Amino acid sequence: MSSESQFDEADVVVIGGGVIGAMCAWYLTEAGRTVTIIDRGRLGRGCSHGNCGYVSPSHILPLTTPGAVSMALRSMFSNKSPFYVKPRWSPALWSWMWRFARRCNQQSMLAAADTLHELLQSAKSLYRELIVGRGLNVEWDDNGIFFVFHSPNKFEQYAKTNALLSERYGVAAIPFDGRQLAAAEPALQPGLGGAWLYECDAQLRPDKLMCEMRRLLADRGVAFKENCEVNGFVAEGRQAIQASTADGPIRGRDYVVATGAWTPFLNRHLGCRIPIQPGKGYSITMPRPELCPNRSMIFEEHRVAITPLRSCFRIGSTMEFAGYDTSINPKRLELLREAACLYLREPNLDAVEDTWYGWRPMTTDGLPYIDRAPAFENVWVAAGHNMLGLSLATVTGQLISDLITRRPPHINPHPLRLPR
Ligand SMILES: Cc1cc2nc3c(=O)[nH]c(=O)nc-3n(C[C@H](O)[C@H](O)[C@H](O)COP(=O)(O)OP(=O)(O)OC[C@H]3O[C@@H](n4cnc5c(N)ncnc54)[C@H](O)[C@@H]3O)c2cc1C
Repeated sequence: MSSESQFDEADVVVIGGGVIGAMCAWYLTEAGRTVTIIDRGRLGRGCSHGNCGYVSPSHILPLTTPGAVSMALRSMFSNKSPFYVKPRWSPALWSWMWRFARRCNQQSMLAAADTLHELLQSAKSLYRELIVGRGLNVEWDDNGIFFVFHSPNKFEQYAKTNALLSERYGVAAIPFDGRQLAAAEPALQPGLGGAWLYECDAQLRPDKLMCEMRRLLADRGVAFKENCEVNGFVAEGRQAIQASTADGPIRGRDYVVATGAWTPFLNRHLGCRIPIQPGKGYSITMPRPELCPNRSMIFEEHRVAITPLRSCFRIGSTMEFAGYDTSINPKRLELLREAACLYLREPNLDAVEDTWYGWRPMTTDGLPYIDRAPAFENVWVAAGHNMLGLSLATVTGQLISDLITRRPPHINPHPLRLPR
């Protein structure tokens, strides 16, 4: 078979080979469809590569909390804050910010949280089925995540959020005061305020997940076309009959657009304006320190996360709105280092093996878009997974498969519709 004909008549063409595209492909093959994945770069080398690896059903509340606007205004132009907006003229960014600000109220926050909770619960059980069921070598660890507070006051104040999550969603954390935390985690600096443990959360190594998914998908006959950018569709009426690429057309019966933060570049072709902004985050990876934390942790006041994996140790986070800027900003990396030194006895920062950035696909309400594109009968969008794309990948793949194969969706897709 020539390489052209291999891609000629795919049943479903998935555009974008991040964790979302890979999981869409997986659940479509579960439903008996044959799939080709196309990526403008290499499979799994976008935002799904060096993230923190949390599969976290505790992350129910979106960023659109009632106090978020004033917090953002205070910190947005400071290079020293975890949230940073690079000053520049960008109507798309300012329109995005305006829409985001309008959602920062209790009612919108809870509406998004209700949907996120349902998605996250389903996603976690699908992950367990996939990873444990198939014995995937991804350093899966179902041990929970600590939300750590530097100040005792902030630790106590979190009790209010814990009460909300536990009463409304049944997701409760176990409190550890400063002394209990020091006993449970000797790798932490002494004198911290305390922590809340979410036992429901899990972690994995994201690049290993992508390798394992590639193996599973290849075993199912999925074809991969890398270094190939899709730049539009050729239509007959409301049917897309081929995806256009510089390497020639790729034909399919259905198409899934899983292009993460790049999705707005296809807006014109999809028939609607999908308001996604790249929210750049960074990670640094090194060998595990001798004195390594037992569990993953988020240092809440500094918005920095650490992941002790079996094969390495990762520190990640920060949120930078700087457009599609590919540079690594040393000031942002410095923030990660400073936070690590503040909380960890042995951050191991002299042994860094990799520094990485990724563009989170940020939406204005914290929810992804999982829906048919308005311009077509057979083009579907699965994009905009914000800070939770790894956590939500399985449920997204299952939902896309349900919708394309016209099975009753296992999750209500209405809140994820396009446009909204
Ligand atoms: C520092 C950091 C830490 C994070 N930690 C976590 C975490 O712990 N847990 C969690 O759940 N989430 C986390 N996230 C978020 C998560 O990484 C993202 O939400 C997720 O990776 C998005 O996946 P995706 O498949 O949509 O995008 P990507 O992985 O970016 O994939 C999109 C793919 O589409 C391809 N593409 C784009 N346009 C085209 C085109 N026109 N034609 C062909 N191909 C195209 C790109 O090359 C890319 O490979 C983190 C993010 C960052 C930055």
